[in-house]
Amino acid sequence: MNRPEHLLACLAEECDEVGKNCMKALRFGLADGYPGSSVTNAQEIAKELSDLIAVMRMLVAEGLIPKPDLGGSAITAKQTKVEKYLAYAREVGALVAPACEAE
Ligand SMILES: [Mg+2]
Repeated sequence: MNRPEHLLACLAEECDEVGKNCMKALRFGLADGYPGSSVTNAQEIAKELSDLIAVMRMLVAEGLIPKPDLGGSAITAKQTKVEKYLAYAREVGALVAPACEAE
């Protein structure tokens, strides 16, 4: 394995860690965390996103991937797409209001 391959493996690993912590939050809640730990699943997600961004910046700095447009139209387009599918999920009954809003 060379350096670019190692960095790509690190990026994939951080993506997995974000996903793992999202699944824990879905199963047990954002405010929950490992037993005996004061760190919440929400905080774990934020930490892993920081790790992901750190590795992304290394890949960008080394010219291995283009710099993502983090403040541009691609972000807005993705947010619009997610909102579109949230509306569709609500329409087909696959998305419900949180318990605090359902009452
Ligand atoms: Mg990590």
